[in-house]
Amino acid sequence: MLAALTVACGEDPAPPPAPPPPPEPALDEAFAMDLEALREGTNALGAAAQSAEGTPDGVARARRAAALARVLSVRDPDGPWLERGRAWLLEASRRKTLAGACDAALELAALEARDAVDPGAAYLVAYRITRRFEEEPCVAEARRMMQVLEAWRPSAGQLARIDADPDEGDPTAGLDGTAPPAPNGAPDLAAWAAERAETGARSSLTSLTVYGHGDGDAARSVRAVLRFDRVVAFEHGEAAAEGAMPRRTWFELSGVAFGEGVADALAVDAGGLRRIRSVERDGGARVTFDLDPEARFHAFVLPDPFRIVLDVEEGGPRAEGPVRRIVLDPGHGGDDFGARAFGMRESDLTLDLARRVRTLLARRLPDAQVVLTRENDTFISLEQRAAIANSIGADLFLSIHLNAADDEVERGGVTTFVLDTSDDRQALRLAARENGTTVDEVDSLARLLAQLHRSDQVAASRDVAEQVHRATLEAGRRHLPSLHDRGVKSALFYVLVGARMPAVLLEASFLSRRQEADLLRETPYRQSLAEGIAEGIVRWAE
Ligand SMILES: [Zn+2]
Repeated sequence: MLAALTVACGEDPAPPPAPPPPPEPALDEAFAMDLEALREGTNALGAAAQSAEGTPDGVARARRAAALARVLSVRDPDGPWLERGRAWLLEASRRKTLAGACDAALELAALEARDAVDPGAAYLVAYRITRRFEEEPCVAEARRMMQVLEAWRPSAGQLARIDADPDEGDPTAGLDGTAPPAPNGAPDLAAWAAERAETGARSSLTSLTVYGHGDGDAARSVRAVLRFDRVVAFEHGEAAAEGAMPRRTWFELSGVAFGEGVADALAVDAGGLRRIRSVERDGGARVTFDLDPEARFHAFVLPDPFRIVLDVEEGGPRAEGPVRRIVLDPGHGGDDFGARAFGMRESDLTLDLARRVRTLLARRLPDAQVVLTRENDTFISLEQRAAIANSIGADLFLSIHLNAADDEVERGGVTTFVLDTSDDRQALRLAARENGTTVDEVDSLARLLAQLHRSDQVAASRDVAEQVHRATLEAGRRHLPSLHDRGVKSALFYVLVGARMPAVLLEASFLSRRQEADLLRETPYRQSLAEGIAEGIVRWAE
């Protein structure tokens, strides 16, 4: 009305009407839609978020804009999208009393971990959530993230800065050198270690252990584990056979001396590995693995304590066909009893469940051999467990656990995990489009370990996880109809790393929850859970 009046008065011409804001892009369409339209729509949404700053609506818009920015960071990698997404989420999480603020902070942690490939920064963001917010399940999710990111925990000084003033500024400012290798390179274990090794420090190779040989049956695979007292820089190489020298793979270790128990030579002659030779030289050491001509090998590292793990597998095609060997892994054992609640120990319950499952499978899959990683209350290292499955060429590795939480949880329930890179819908969609088959290359956290996983193995793990999950849940609900379905998820469980077959970790119930603990104390519930687990395995195997 006012504009019309000024025109009528013959003064300044009216400005052209502002164009309508571009429509808000739908996240589901963001991969397919026109790039320019996506850029415009995302920026407009970000601007709208700013003008609604300090309101729940502003928080919601900023989160949507940041989700689109994460897609754009892939489609338009030279654009400023990660910085924008970061700024929007930081703003959205600033006022902690606003609805959605904690979730915005979680999304910021995910952005740092997955899109920016900076797990150290992600850890700080998650840590700050636990200091600022009280809202469940958001804070529980942040704690879970910190567990997954434990290997990338920043220095105590960094965390203390957040403790001093958790509400102020950018939690990741001035982060000191904990970033993993560049996102686009091949997984580079040596670079990972080199970044963490203290320069000039002397380290000790405290043990060199080979799992999976000398166990009666000829091993299909063996696993060598080099344990150190600190992270060491190393080179890993391979050499072809020449003359009398067999084909071999070696690790050149900087600043390392051998501990007491490390032999100069160790004959293995199993699983494609002939022998291990160790020499100290030039202030360092070299460990050489002599291989059969057709053997396959894969190396990876694990932190705390630093370990280099080498899996060697016989050459030749892998056996296809019916399920012949199943490895059940009762979690924990010995001094490591896992969770403890209401006078029960996780390690006792997992062994009981595994034994029951074995008995049931003997009847239902009479042609299959079922092996337990432990038969009694003994300690077994995590890396030994999958090695047992690899060495016998198992068709399935199932690790059985019971869940627990430090705090009283509202709902317990059943969770089943596979070792994979991400459960994030957006990341999965992204991976499906970018890679065609598997999300392995996308997720930053498991990226270093993803080379050990074949896409068919990931798919098979999900398959068996779904079957075991559903059947276990059904069986548990016979006793507790409200038993909560926590779903099939993926996470970086060391026990599953390097398993050469479908590998699943089941959290069969919540030991720390009174209702489920009371049932776990009684045989009928445990028997039902075992029946569910066995039923899931049978459904998968058939
Ligand atoms: Zn456990």
